[in-house]
Amino acid sequence: MTCDFVALAQPGVHGLKPYEPGKPIETLERELGIRESVKLASNENPLGPSPKALAAMQSRMQGLSLYPDGSGHALKAAIAAQAGCEPGHITLGNGSSEILELVARAYLGDETEVVFSEHAFAVYALVSQAVNAQIRVANANGPDEQRAFGHHAQNLIDACNDKTRVVFIANPNNPTGTWLEAQELHDLLKALPREAVIVVDEAYREYVEEPNYPDAAAWLAEFPNLVVTRTFSKIYGLAGLRIGYGISNEQIADVLNRVRQPFNTNELAQAAALAALSDQDHLRKSRETNTLGLAQLIEGFNKLGLSYLPSIGNFICVDLGREAMPVYQAMLRLGVIVRPISNYGFPEHLRISVGTQAQNARALAALAEVMGA
Ligand SMILES: *Cc1c(COP(=O)(O)O)cnc(C)c1O
Repeated sequence: MTCDFVALAQPGVHGLKPYEPGKPIETLERELGIRESVKLASNENPLGPSPKALAAMQSRMQGLSLYPDGSGHALKAAIAAQAGCEPGHITLGNGSSEILELVARAYLGDETEVVFSEHAFAVYALVSQAVNAQIRVANANGPDEQRAFGHHAQNLIDACNDKTRVVFIANPNNPTGTWLEAQELHDLLKALPREAVIVVDEAYREYVEEPNYPDAAAWLAEFPNLVVTRTFSKIYGLAGLRIGYGISNEQIADVLNRVRQPFNTNELAQAAALAALSDQDHLRKSRETNTLGLAQLIEGFNKLGLSYLPSIGNFICVDLGREAMPVYQAMLRLGVIVRPISNYGFPEHLRISVGTQAQNARALAALAEVMGA
């Protein structure tokens, strides 16, 4: 008799479905025998990484036989200087997803609860369920309310109880692109339980141009239960390297440091991230490309008579008014990879990441062709 190794896994793992990433270009081209496809499916920076990051990696190649600096001293110092905090407030992660996982491993388990919004980033459920926490999903704003599908602060508050140990809040949220303004988020943090760790996930913060968008890291002293997560995967164009970080008070940083792997961020990633931080020019260009690209996509949707969810990130969800999966598949055959989001409760929307002007035009042309315009 062989054992059932699924049944033997922790209970939370039984119902887990692996995260479904955007389809890689190589996979599509292999499957369809086509070339020159574009991928606007994973919110990556179409300009790529800063040249300074590439040069920094090159210069470290020779040293790869040695372990990296497990404490990430230089990178933490640079992040802290930029964020206006101390290096002891920073935890480096193998992508900011790892910070989310470290929080779950350190603070969640049997008999504990975690709260996040409907339509929230999929990793919150994954890391929570894996450690057997009870998940409470707070209803989001309705389709006809202001900030449709965005976080509903009171529902998040009401979902908490004395077993709540973690609350995940993406600002802005992926895939909806919705956000909480400074006052709203501040009021929410004040109303959430003090003994729950509140993770404010700012993966897209460098793209945001809204004047009322909060800098949650400025509130660390006021909220000792706050963890702000950020990443080099999005505007910094380093998604393939896997590096991100959390900002929290020293006590939480100490806890996360205890549960992480000794060398969780690698040498090249640390070097590239450090160099990328100093390239303000690349950051500005990336932001400008995104702002123009968002406007271009919106103009295209308007021409097609399609509505969309207003977004402050580098992606936007378009409402097709019909089942999105066949449209997604037909766009694939035209060499354009976007992201179906029925797993987020949107069977009729597609999420499109903002690309270069040419890539956006290609996506809009494919969309128009498939929609029969
Ligand atoms: C992309 C994304 C992340 C970042 O993932 P990394 O692990 O840093 O690559 C985190 N949160 C949200 C909401 C995201 O969309």
